[in-house]
Amino acid sequence: MMQPHVRSIAALRSVAACALLGLAALMAPSLQAKDWDIFTLGGREYVSDENVAKFYAFERFAKQDDDRIFKHPSLIMTWKIGSESIYVNNIKFNLSFPVIENGGMAMLSTVDLAKLVDPVVRPSYIRKPIEFDTVVIDAGHGAHDTGAKGPYGREKDYTLDTSLRLSKALQARGFKTVMTRSEDVFLTLGQRVEFANRYKNAIFVSIHYNSSGAQASNGIETYALAPQGTRSTNGGSPWNSPLNGNTSDAENIALATAVHAHVISDIKAVDRGIKRARFNVLRGINKPGILFEGGFVTSPSEGKLINDPAHRERLANSIADAVVRFQTAVGKK
Ligand SMILES: [Zn+2]
Repeated sequence: MMQPHVRSIAALRSVAACALLGLAALMAPSLQAKDWDIFTLGGREYVSDENVAKFYAFERFAKQDDDRIFKHPSLIMTWKIGSESIYVNNIKFNLSFPVIENGGMAMLSTVDLAKLVDPVVRPSYIRKPIEFDTVVIDAGHGAHDTGAKGPYGREKDYTLDTSLRLSKALQARGFKTVMTRSEDVFLTLGQRVEFANRYKNAIFVSIHYNSSGAQASNGIETYALAPQGTRSTNGGSPWNSPLNGNTSDAENIALATAVHAHVISDIKAVDRGIKRARFNVLRGINKPGILFEGGFVTSPSEGKLINDPAHRERLANSIADAVVRFQTAVGKK
C-alpha cells in the first residue's frame, strides 16, 4: 500500500510530525500488507477499527454503540458507523467511502486508510520529504468572471485581495511567492495550471470564497484532489483515471489538514470539513495543492466579515502560519 521506508530516518523525522495538528508523533511501522487484515465487502477493501487501533498503537480504543474513539495523549480520532466523515482532533474529514459495520466492527476503506488517515495521523511517513521554498498563489476568478456575488461585494475582488495579503504574509515568513494573477484579469483554469506547473520546489494554494442560495450557509471548507477510484465529496461517480495531481495524494491531504485545522481554530469559523473534488486546477497541477474556500459571501453575517479587510488579513496570516507548520511537518530537513 505504501512504500517501506528507512526506520532511522522516520524516527528522526517523527518529531516534526506533531507540527501538523499539534500531535505527538505516533511511532508505528510502515503500512505493509502483513500488518493488515483486508476484508472485501461489497467489492471494496476495508480494514477494521481494531486493526487501526493496534497498528497505530493508540493508547485507548473505545466502542460506544456506533462510535469508535481512538486516543493518544495529543490525538483523538473518532469514527461513526454509517458516517461519511471522521474527526481528528475535532477537525472534520470527509471520507471517500462511509464507515460500515461488519460483525460488530467498524470498517474503514483501504483508500481512506492510505489516502487520508495515514498521511494525517503520521505525516512524517510521507514517502519523500517535500522540498519547497515557493508558494504558487491562485486568486480565483477575475475580470468578467466575478465568481460569487454577495450583498457586500464580489468573490473575484476578495480572492485577489486575500491572495496579495497571503503573498506578503508568506514572504515575511521566508517563502518565495508567485501569483497566477495579481490584478483584475481573466485566466482560464488551464492557464492557471500551466503557470503553476512552471515552478519547481513549490506548493499550490488556490483562494476562493463560497456562495449558496441558502443565506444560512456559513463556514470554511478546504479541498484536496479526490484520489483515483473515489468520488468527489459533493457527488458524482468514482473516477478511475489517474490525474497529474494524484501523484501528490498524501501531500495534498497533509497540506489541506495543516491549513484547514489551523485556520478553523484561529478564525473560529464554522468547520465545513476537508473535502475531495476534481476541480480543474487540482487535477492538472504537478505539485501538492489545495483549494481553500474562505467563507460564504452570500451569508449576511459571514459576507460582512469577509468584506472587512482586517478579517482578510487575519485569514492570510493564518494560512501563512499553516504553511510554516506544514513545512515543519513534512518539508525537507
Ligand atoms: Zn470561486
